[in-house]
Amino acid sequence: MDKILLHVGPTTIKEDVLIAGLENNIGFTSKEFVEAFSYVLKGLRYVMGVSKNYQPFIIPGGGTSAMESITSLLKPGDKVLIVSNGVFGDRWEQIFKRYPVNVKVLRPSPGYYVKPEEVEEAVRKENYKLVTLTHVETSTGVREPIKDVVNNIRKYVELIVVDGVSSVGAEEVKAEDWNVDVYLSASQKALGAPAGLGLLVLSPKAIATLESQDSIAGYYLNLKNWLPVMRSMEEGKAAYFATPPVHVILQLAEALKLIEKEGIENRVKRHSVVAGAIRAGLEALGLEIVARKPESYSNTVTGVVLKVAEPQKVLSETVNEGVEFAPGVHPAFKYFRIGHMGWVTPNDAVVAISVIERVLRKLGEPIKFGEGVKAVQESLSSAR
Ligand code: PMP
Repeated sequence: MDKILLHVGPTTIKEDVLIAGLENNIGFTSKEFVEAFSYVLKGLRYVMGVSKNYQPFIIPGGGTSAMESITSLLKPGDKVLIVSNGVFGDRWEQIFKRYPVNVKVLRPSPGYYVKPEEVEEAVRKENYKLVTLTHVETSTGVREPIKDVVNNIRKYVELIVVDGVSSVGAEEVKAEDWNVDVYLSASQKALGAPAGLGLLVLSPKAIATLESQDSIAGYYLNLKNWLPVMRSMEEGKAAYFATPPVHVILQLAEALKLIEKEGIENRVKRHSVVAGAIRAGLEALGLEIVARKPESYSNTVTGVVLKVAEPQKVLSETVNEGVEFAPGVHPAFKYFRIGHMGWVTPNDAVVAISVIERVLRKLGEPIKFGEGVKAVQESLSSAR
């Protein structure tokens, strides 16, 4: 049976994107590759909502390498505030603990988000050089109101960094209008390309910080080493610091072409329609969602809380029925996750809820059988 992938990344990859990586003789200094690289740099500005004032970066790795590269903006003893709504917010702490900086973490109760006023209170009390935020926390599906938080804290902190790994390509992202200094992401989620790339855009202020100091960063993830390559490639001149993942970059270029063809606003809307329909289905079944506050529901991830059924059993049974969901990773909940990002369609919402209904009934979870698909249909037809 063909499988529908409703995971949290890698997501479904279009054939055209896969095929774009099938090049058997392309050097990293070739004209074709430099063109693709340059195209991806420009495409990152498009999907992250920034103008030419911002400098894009493509580095090897993924979300975590992009996160760790933020050490390029820090000096020994700098104070960092981490706003963490879950496992991936906590990852910032794991990273910075390896470096000589002072870190504080602000956390809500599981399933909630840290409110803009709470972040403001923290940065008023103490002088932080840098604050990290997670736009969509993939472990809980909770969205942070980035624009409002930045509005509240902008005048108190030097640099604001946002992890947009689970938001770019599916949520509204206006990094420049919102006055964010670094907005970062990865290739494998809502952008619909294979895993392998960390992606960032840096504001003029972040670039000035990067250029002016000797940071605590190591060698490979030091953005100062990558900066000349980015500048040169965008101008169409090949440059080298370390070998880029050539074929994944070709694939991301193709994915960005498809995204531009769809139009980013249409893409965000599509995600919002599908996410809304999935949530409507779950609610009608009587299931609880991990994200506690409706204003923090995301377009990309929904955690489904289970009372009776074992999450692992749900995952294996649903795979047998042809749909692959993602396991839960937050220790506070017994749950699994539905990833609805990339090339997800309204029809996928119907299939997802239909499979969940059948499997949960079989596993003895108390649900209102039959009500889920009906609610999805209602939601989809009223969204049109
Ligand atoms: N941040 C968020 C919000 C994520 O969802 C993830 C990956 N799930 C990461 C960071 C880490 O990205 P990667 O696994 O690509 O290193």
